[in-house]
Formats: sequence, C-alpha cells, structure tokens
Amino acid sequence: MDPAIREANDRMPGYDEARIAPRALATEAVHAGRDDLARQGLHAPPIDLSTTYPSYDSRGEAARIDAFATTGAEPDGPPVYGRLGNPTVARFETALARLEGTEAAVAFASGMAALSAVLLVRASMGLRHVVAVRPLYGCSDHLLTAGLLGSEVTWTDPAGIEEALRPDTGLVMVESPANPTLAELDLRAVAHACGSVPLLADNTFATPVLQRPAEQGARLVLHSATKYLGGHGDVMAGVVACDEEFAGRLRQVRFATGGVLHPLAGYLLLRGLSTLPVRVRAASATAAELAGRLAADPRVARVHYPRIGGAMIAFEVDGDPHEVIAGVDLITPAVSLGSVDTLIQHPASISHRIVDADDRRGAGVSDRLLRMSVGLEDVEDLWADLDAALERAGRGAGNSATGRTAPAAAVGH
Ligand code: PLP
Repeated sequence: MDPAIREANDRMPGYDEARIAPRALATEAVHAGRDDLARQGLHAPPIDLSTTYPSYDSRGEAARIDAFATTGAEPDGPPVYGRLGNPTVARFETALARLEGTEAAVAFASGMAALSAVLLVRASMGLRHVVAVRPLYGCSDHLLTAGLLGSEVTWTDPAGIEEALRPDTGLVMVESPANPTLAELDLRAVAHACGSVPLLADNTFATPVLQRPAEQGARLVLHSATKYLGGHGDVMAGVVACDEEFAGRLRQVRFATGGVLHPLAGYLLLRGLSTLPVRVRAASATAAELAGRLAADPRVARVHYPRIGGAMIAFEVDGDPHEVIAGVDLITPAVSLGSVDTLIQHPASISHRIVDADDRRGAGVSDRLLRMSVGLEDVEDLWADLDAALERAGRGAGNSATGRTAPAAAVGH
C-alpha cells in the first residue's frame, strides 16, 4: 500500500487496509459511510429498523456486553440491542467523522441530547464545572445556566478562559460562528487556553465544509444535525465528533440514558451529507450577496456576516423587527436553520427567549436583531421579499426608506 495512504489510514482509525486514498471533502460527503455497498451489490444504504438482534450464544453476548461496559467500543457483529448502536446510524456516524476529521462520531436524538451526553460524561468523572463563552444557542445557554444536569457554569470571554479553569473543570464550550450574532472566535487560541481541558466547539453554523474545529484543537465537535447536516428541515438529530476514547464514553451514556437516533433519521442524515458541500456553498454565495445588499440599505442599522462565510446572516433593523417577520412571504418565518428554504426569526422572541434578557443583551443579542438562514432560492426572489418586508417595517417605525439619508450599515464581522 502507498505509504501516504497507510499514514492517512493510521491517522483515521476505524478504516482498514482496503481503504482508498484520502479523499476531498466533496468525495467523502458522497462516499463515506457507504464504501462497502457496491461489494454487497447495493446502491442505497439499507435501513435496519431492528430493535433487537437474535443470538443463540448467550455466553458470547455476555462477553460482548462486558466489552461494551468496559470501553464503549461498538460491539463487533450485530449490536445486541438498539440502544447499543444501529448499523444505519453507524453509517452516518462514520461519514460525519470523516468529514470532521475525527476518529469517531456518536449520534443522538437531537443536538440538545448530544450536549447533555457530553455533560453527563464529564459529571460522571466528577468534573462538573463548565467554562463557556456567550453567546451560545439559547437552550445550550439555559442548560448550563440552570444547571439542569448538575453542572456549574462560569461565563467568560475568550481572554478569560485560562483564568476561569478550575481543578474540576470538565469542559470549555464555545460556538463559532455563534448563534445568533455570528461572532467568531480564534478556535486555535481558545484550544490553547484550555490546556488539557476538552474544548467543545459547536460547529452547527459553519459545518465541516467551512471549518473543521478538530484540526484547530477542539476535542469535541458538536452539531445540531437538525440543521445543515440533514439539510431539509425534516430530521431532528445531534452528533458529537471526537476521538474514540471519548466516543466510547458517549456511547455508554447514550446506552444508559436512551437518547438514541432513530435509524430512519440516520438514513436521512447520510443522504443529507452527500449534498452538504453543494448546499452550503450555494447558500453561502447567496448569503454573501444578501449581506452586502443589507449593509448598503439605509433601513438596516447593522449587518453581521462571518469572515469564514456561510449561509447565516444577522441584521439589526431601524424599524420594528416584528414587522419584518410579519412581512415576509417567500421566506419562511420560523426558528431553526440550515434547510433548503430561507428562514427568518427574531432571536429575542424565540431562539434566545429562554436566556435572561440582561445576559442576552450583554452577549450582543439586541432586541432589534433578526437572524436569517439563507436557503437555495434565487437571490433576486429573496431580495424582493426582504425588500418588501423591510419597507413594511420601516413604515411601521415611521421612516420610509425613500426619504432617508442615513448612512448605509457596515458589515460587522
Ligand atoms: N446548537 C446550535 C448552534 C443550535 O442552533 C441548536 C438548535 O437550534 C442546537 C445546538 C440544539 O439542537 P437541537 O434543536 O437539534 O436539539
């Protein structure tokens, strides 16, 4: 075997000698998790809906269960019981790990179930303290602030991470670009500040198409797979990409607490991954164009668009943000993101409602901020819809766009 390929495979445990050369992201998106199919005479991956797996060898099953209890490694052969693992879900996990450049990935019923499992892994080791940087997605913030799983959080800015670490700190958590302000962090510097404490980077907004946090030192990469990974607004899921040791602990928590992903969802996610690069790049190009137009528009006070690009835009209007939501027609006025259609929502009312108002505003989530997830529609159709909604909002606030001379907004990164 070519030494370069061997070396790449060594860096990607779980891939055997039969593996092919390291592949570009677009190729992995289509083929990872499916490499065995052609040899089996299959094209689409099979959906295994079994909840249990028959065996006439109880001694063997006992040994497999003991092995799982020790390491959390996926049992060889069939999974014993659906909560230990599922072959269709495992295909999605394999594919996502390849895309994020990690040894493994563990899928859950939702992004929040994935985050809960991470917190439970660390709490079970006596490491209940979490250091986190705002803003985070509203429910992630709430889970930490309320200490629902027995954790205790210290909120800090990136410069304060090192000082906030304690002997019982089990996790540092960040989002970049963050929900909803799209604030970006230098993940490499943050990982450095964490020392030996695992850094969890929520990569939901960037996806591995734009950023691979594990390459920058994050030990845990979390996704609400409900968003871009699924991509069509019809699957709820979460996933953590990480090293095999942490994955084992996550599988054990998943087995014990039951937040498993349904096999049909695993199938849809695998299908979603195959178009992920195409969808993210197309939507990002449209988003960049819209961000530019919004920044030049006198009805818009401020535009947030990440340096790394992406399909998310946040902007603050001079008029009433609720009127923008009420005024869209083509754009879907709904929470969530990452679907083929464009969605818009008002974070202070919905996605971040659960965060204390002062904390929310302190994190840069102003009451005038709107968050838009740009989909795959034509840019001119989207702009026409936004333009009409902004006009309505401007009228409500009594400042028609036509009569205004205010300077255009700058794109804030
Ligand atoms: N992380 C981010 C950045 C999110 O936006 C969300 C949901 O919006 C979550 C995590 C939680 O994911 P889920 O809704 O799949 O539980």
